[in-house]
Amino acid sequence: MASMTICARFRPLSSKERRDHGDAVCIQHVDSETFSFKDEKDEEFTFSFDKVFYEKSEQAEVYEFLASPIVRDAVDAINGTIVTYGQTGAGKTYSMEGPSILVCDEQKRGLLPRVVEGLFDCIKSSGRTMKHSIKLSMVEIYMERVRDLFDLAKDNIQIKESKSQGILLNGVTEISVSSPAEALQSLSNGIANRAVGETQMNVSSSRSHCIYIFTVQQEVKKDERSKAGKLILVDLAGSEKVEKTGAEGKVLEEAKTINKSLSALGNVINALTCGSSGKANHIPFRDSKLTRILQDSLGGNSRTALLCCCSPSPSNALESLSTLRFGMRAKHI
Ligand code: ADP
Ligand code: MG
Repeated sequence: MASMTICARFRPLSSKERRDHGDAVCIQHVDSETFSFKDEKDEEFTFSFDKVFYEKSEQAEVYEFLASPIVRDAVDAINGTIVTYGQTGAGKTYSMEGPSILVCDEQKRGLLPRVVEGLFDCIKSSGRTMKHSIKLSMVEIYMERVRDLFDLAKDNIQIKESKSQGILLNGVTEISVSSPAEALQSLSNGIANRAVGETQMNVSSSRSHCIYIFTVQQEVKKDERSKAGKLILVDLAGSEKVEKTGAEGKVLEEAKTINKSLSALGNVINALTCGSSGKANHIPFRDSKLTRILQDSLGGNSRTALLCCCSPSPSNALESLSTLRFGMRAKHI
């Protein structure tokens, strides 16, 4: 049965939020799992998650709680998914990458570089009896089109399903990496390519989903079926609602597409958590490219972690509330 960890994270107030609203925040710390939240009408809500990371939380805490069990399992050929959700500016990319993938304070490093190191560490400590290899792919979904971030010429990757290997991205670039440094260099190239693509297409990265795929292959003896764990990290497009008035053309189309794929993700996670009651229910993986790509790392025997990123400022209360509700719905108690 799929295991699901759902957490909330509040970033510190930004300097703009401080300038406009002083030190006011809309959350009140209860304990490490529960907080109360006041909306703009002063109505109070209580939320509980598997863990709440408050403003002063460290990147290492987030990694340890949310990602390290998934990393360990990936080396044992159990698929996993780590997703950051929230409005633009809420801290998704900071949580995922940190200030920079290649050069930054040890303390501020995000999930990605820690996952990379964790994977190599787990392989090392798994002993010499089993050989592992790690392959890396990076894609972006914009307007339901999958682009290869290691090769921008591949701008319409098709999703296929194979009996032996599960969900496949047809023709996607896979880079074999043999050290953390090599993996980080590749990731950094992919991130730079993403920025190039953004400028070429005049699209903000906040409007696309960025997907990092690690395939951890266990080398097995001849004639044995090879085993692989797939670990997917997703930095989602911003979940903010666009103003109904005003938005038109491309902006409106983008917003509708994002909204559709985020609801598809919510529906899939919800259907998976409801499944624990034992009844066979339909999981709507096919409703979006995002859920299709995640199909075999969300469903089946896999581990998923969702980090709901929020601003603590009253000026963002509406969007934060919507993010927290997404998380609660996914949790389904
Ligand atoms: P998103 O990817 O959700 O749009 P970002 O991760 O880019 O948001 O965060 C917006 C800003 O807030 C960035 O300047 C980032 O450095 C800062 N920030 C986000 N989370 C934190 C945090 N936990 N600690 C310090 N700064 C943060
Ligand atoms: Mg971002």
